[in-house]
Amino acid sequence: MLGLMQNQPLLISSLIDFAERHHPEGEIVSRRIEGDIHRCSYKDIARRSRQVANAMEALKLAFGDRVATLAWNGYRHLELYFGVSGTGRVLHTLNPRLHPDQIAWIANHAEDQVLFFDMTFLPIVKAMQGKATSIRHYVALCDADKLPADSGIAGLQSYEALLARQPDTFVWPEFDENTASSMCYTSGTTGDPKAVLFSHRSTILHAFAGGLPDALNMSARDSVLPVVPMFHANAWSLPYSAAMTGAKMVFPGAALDGKSVYELIESEKVTFAAGVPTVWQMMLGHVQAGGLRFSTLKRTVIGGSACPPAMISAFNDDYGVEVLHAWGMTEMSPLGTVNTLKNKHLNMAPADKLKVRVKQGRGVYGVDMKIVDPGGKELPWDGKVFGDLHVKGPWVIRDYFKSDAGSPLVDGWFPTGDVATIDPDGYMQITDRSKDVIKSGGEWISSIDVENIAMSHPAVAMAACIGMAHPKWDERPIIAVVRKPAATVSREDLLSFYTGKLAKWQVPDDVVFLDAIPLGGTGKMQKTKLREMLKDYRLPDL
Ligand code: AMP
Repeated sequence: MLGLMQNQPLLISSLIDFAERHHPEGEIVSRRIEGDIHRCSYKDIARRSRQVANAMEALKLAFGDRVATLAWNGYRHLELYFGVSGTGRVLHTLNPRLHPDQIAWIANHAEDQVLFFDMTFLPIVKAMQGKATSIRHYVALCDADKLPADSGIAGLQSYEALLARQPDTFVWPEFDENTASSMCYTSGTTGDPKAVLFSHRSTILHAFAGGLPDALNMSARDSVLPVVPMFHANAWSLPYSAAMTGAKMVFPGAALDGKSVYELIESEKVTFAAGVPTVWQMMLGHVQAGGLRFSTLKRTVIGGSACPPAMISAFNDDYGVEVLHAWGMTEMSPLGTVNTLKNKHLNMAPADKLKVRVKQGRGVYGVDMKIVDPGGKELPWDGKVFGDLHVKGPWVIRDYFKSDAGSPLVDGWFPTGDVATIDPDGYMQITDRSKDVIKSGGEWISSIDVENIAMSHPAVAMAACIGMAHPKWDERPIIAVVRKPAATVSREDLLSFYTGKLAKWQVPDDVVFLDAIPLGGTGKMQKTKLREMLKDYRLPDL
């Protein structure tokens, strides 16, 4: 017997329709690339999303066609989020931090038909235009009078002129909720990038879950600043959850340095911010150096790579800002786990609480997880045994787009490539990416543990631990370190800092001081690049 409830497909267009009817006055604030602050409301975004929808027709794009963006976080990008997907076209957010040849490769693979781009990225567009052969239209996200006469891009038009020609009425089509809505290529440390293709259903379910109190806890009282780019797993779905809840959105545009982000947090009364640890490292540096305080910021979700405990303590103890350490993947839309405490933890001593908080968190309903041994046998949740982390759920990938490798699933579960423990309370802790785990004398060393200790040293700005080949031990860890400006710490000081914090054999064999650690397109440390940089390095005992 079927239930007798309405069978309404879960479509992205319903989010902006809802926002327009229920919180039309909700604010959308954007720092534009020109440097000024632009203000509008959900009502404006809804109206202009319908103009985008009409533009999709005017550009003669077919249902399912891919529409690419190379854009910062801002209101125009948000309009494309709703206007493109709402009509059944697929929004493809390209990562401008990649090399133009790689971007062109990705655009060709996706068969992008149109490219909407911020003028900052004109040099990239010029470099890729001859190579990205499927793109038929180029649209610059600016006013008509900001278009340079000699852009070098054939047929380039301005977004505002394109929109101005479109009516602001449009009836969103109804279609299968499993239809593709947006796509994002994963950076992929080996081989070609792989395309994750989200659906309307997966996006809406994920946005519901993201808003839950033990997830990101989004509400109409929030002012939300996604520093995480809209080209990194849909800005962790914050634009969708915000439209659902009526939260104010604050977009930082291109100004991602500590000072600019801090100023925006203060001026727009931001209560909730999101980003990778490297971004917060810069902002904390700015705040600490200037003796500044946060007057409205209550919580910040930090994920994308392991959040060092020292950062959790600094936010929590020094500034009263709650850190939600979260873990996920583009393949998971991206939310998997978020760290919030259970009742039993609330009265713990601060040091014990921190031990819980540094973990990557508990599963959000909708994502199931397990750890398995190399034979695929499920391992216990005892907080000690670690194994390969597998996940499944309605917003987890089933297959990559146009991949001939076959489905990545193993018995219906997606192998994340991460190695983790899960404790009896359900808190998952990543020990490593499987390829970053260091194997020494048959035992595994967690590079994250080694990095976290270095990061808690006051002179250290950034630290990356990698394994170096060793004839006796197989591999030995070394730690590459960037010192804070004007700070001094010697190799010996840093190595002795590990005493009592790790077993002797887990302490790195050496410290390599660097000016910078290579970062990837989404602000994560690129250990493959670091290994290349240090290919001539020799361990001290060899
Ligand atoms: P991406 O799809 O580019 O966001 O990369 C996903 C990968 O980032 C995961 O498989 C993890 O290896 C890593 N990652 C994400 N969040 C965390 C976290 N909180 N701690 C450690 N690693 C993380």
